[in-house]
Amino acid sequence: MKSYHNSIHAHERAKKVMPGGVSSPVRTYESVGHPAVYMDEGKGSRIKDIDGNEYIDYVMSWGPLLLGHANDHVVDSLKIVAEKGTSFGASHVTEAGLAELVVDRVPSIEVVRMVNSGTEATMSALRLARGFTGRDKIVKMEGCYHGHGDSLLIRAGSGVATLGLPDSPGVPGSIAQNTLTVPYNDLDSLQKAFDEYGDEIAGVILEPVTGNMGVVTPGEGFLEGVRDITNQYGSLLIFDEVMSGFRVDYNSAQGHYGVTPDLTCLGKVIGGGLPVGAYGGRADIMQQIAPDGPIYQAGTLSGNPLAMTAGLETLRQVDESSYETFRARAAHLEEGLNRAASKHGIPHQINRAGAMIGLFFTDEPVVDFASAKKSDLGMFARYFRGMMAEGISLPPSQFEGLFLSTEHSEEDIDKTIEAADRVFASLAA
Ligand code: PLP
Repeated sequence: MKSYHNSIHAHERAKKVMPGGVSSPVRTYESVGHPAVYMDEGKGSRIKDIDGNEYIDYVMSWGPLLLGHANDHVVDSLKIVAEKGTSFGASHVTEAGLAELVVDRVPSIEVVRMVNSGTEATMSALRLARGFTGRDKIVKMEGCYHGHGDSLLIRAGSGVATLGLPDSPGVPGSIAQNTLTVPYNDLDSLQKAFDEYGDEIAGVILEPVTGNMGVVTPGEGFLEGVRDITNQYGSLLIFDEVMSGFRVDYNSAQGHYGVTPDLTCLGKVIGGGLPVGAYGGRADIMQQIAPDGPIYQAGTLSGNPLAMTAGLETLRQVDESSYETFRARAAHLEEGLNRAASKHGIPHQINRAGAMIGLFFTDEPVVDFASAKKSDLGMFARYFRGMMAEGISLPPSQFEGLFLSTEHSEEDIDKTIEAADRVFASLAA
C-alpha cells in the first residue's frame, strides 16, 4: 500500500488559500476518488511524489513533455537562457527560430503568433476569424475542449445543431448564443447548422483528433467534409491542435490526415513544459493581426525566452523516425491493454491516432461525446486507483488520453500491460 501522508497534508494546507487547493480543477483527483498527489520530481518516463512513491507517468503534464521529464538538453539550454534574463519585453532571436520551425512542420501555418496558453491561442483565433470574416457565430463540436474562454465554454447540444448555453456561471448568455454546437463526426448536423446560419458563421473550430472526451478519432471523410462545407460558405476552418500538434505526427494531425485548415492553434508540446500557446495559418488572414492589421492581440510574456527555448530545443530533438517509434510503442500498448481487458471479460474500446491513445469501459464504439459518456466511470475510477497502486500514473479522468514520451521504453510498456492485467483481474472479480 502506498502512503499519501505528505500529499494529503500538503493539500489540506493548500485548500485554505487556493480554490480546491489547486491551480487547475482536475488536480484534486476528486472524480477518481484518490487523494490529490503532490509531485516532487520527474526524469524521463518516471515521476516521484512527495511521499517518495514512483510511477511510470502517462500524464506527461497533460501532453507537453514529448521528451519526458527534465530532458537533459532542454534543462541545460534553459539554465543558460535563464542566466541571461528571463524576459525582456522585447524581441529576441529564439522566437523567430521557433516560429520558423512551426511554419516548416505544420502544413497550414505560413505565419504564427506566440501566446502563453492554449486558451489564449483559441480565444485569439476566434477573434481573428470573426474580424476577418465580419461574422459573429462560431461552430464548435460537442465534447471538444478549447480552453476556458467564454465563447468556447459552451454546453454541448445533443443530436442536432443547437444554439449554445453557457457551461459555467459567468459566461454571458449573449456570448454563448453565438456558439453553435454539433456532435463530432456528424457531417449532417454540421450541414444543418450551415443551412440555417451559414452566412453568419465565422468559423468552425474542432480538435482534428479529440483528446478531451477521451481519444476520439475522425471517421473516414469527416475532416474532408468539414473542410468542404466551410469552403462552400466562406467560413474559416480552425484546427485546435493544442493537444494533437507535434504529438499525433511529425506534421501534426493535419499532416497525418492530409486536411489543411485556415488557422491552427498550438500549445503544450511547443512549450516543452513551459507556458505557451500559438496560433497561425494563412498569411493573408494572419496579416489582419496587429501590428500588420487592425485585429488586436498582445502579451507581456508572449514569446518569452524560456518558453521559446524549451519548445525549440524539444522539437529539434525529434524527427520523423521519432514518431515511428512513438506509433510502434503506442500500438504495443494498445494491443497489450486490449488483450488483457479481453482476457478478463472487461467491456472496453481503445481509440488511437499515432501516439494519442484512450481506453473506454464500454462495448460500443466511441465516435462522439454521447458514446464516450457511455463509458463506465465507476470502473474507470477503480482502474485508475488500481493502476496508481501499481505505480502507473494515468490522467485522473476518463475524458483524457494517455501521453507517451520518447522516453517510454518497451520495458515501461510491458510493465504497464502487466499492471493493467492484474488491475483488470481485480475489476472482473
Ligand atoms: N485546446 C485543447 C485541445 C486542449 O487540450 C487544451 C488543454 O488541455 C486547451 C485548448 C487549453 O490549453 P491551456 O490549458 O494551455 O489553456
